[in-house]
Amino acid sequence: MVKDDCIFCKLANGVIPTASLYEDDTFRVILDANPASKGHALILPKHHYQDLCELDEAVGEKVLKVAAKIGKAMKEGLGCAGFNLVQNNGEAAGQTVMHFHMHVIPRYEGGSKMVTWESGKVSAEETERIVEAVTPRL
Ligand code: 5GP
Ligand code: ZN
Repeated sequence: MVKDDCIFCKLANGVIPTASLYEDDTFRVILDANPASKGHALILPKHHYQDLCELDEAVGEKVLKVAAKIGKAMKEGLGCAGFNLVQNNGEAAGQTVMHFHMHVIPRYEGGSKMVTWESGKVSAEETERIVEAVTPRL
């Protein structure tokens, strides 16, 4: 299924042409228009899924394989020292385009640390509450 008003559906399916690093029956990998680092890429499924919770299981199983392939090629071709995989789900998590995508962000020696958060604290009671809230739903 593609969504008529979805920019990533159009990019993934070549309706809007864009530089692609990789394409197969399931995905197109494009370069991010606002890169966090040189080579920042986006893995886009060709079908429309809003986020990870909607993603078809078979597509989900393939996405990490594609990410590994892209990351390895970036290390060899761009000389990055590593790469981050980032995948935002929901506005609160920073998702701005509501079509599932995985960021592959090359990291270079001496580059800034981009994927960071402030470490917090959690009590034993809160830990227990979290486990009780989540595990029955799995
Ligand atoms: P999100 O914040 O949803 O995880 O990431 C969306 C990403 O898509 C952003 O990094 C943004 O720069 C990128 N992006 C948004 N619109 C376009 C576009 O039209 N073309 C390309 N190549 N990237 C886009
Ligand atoms: Zn879409």
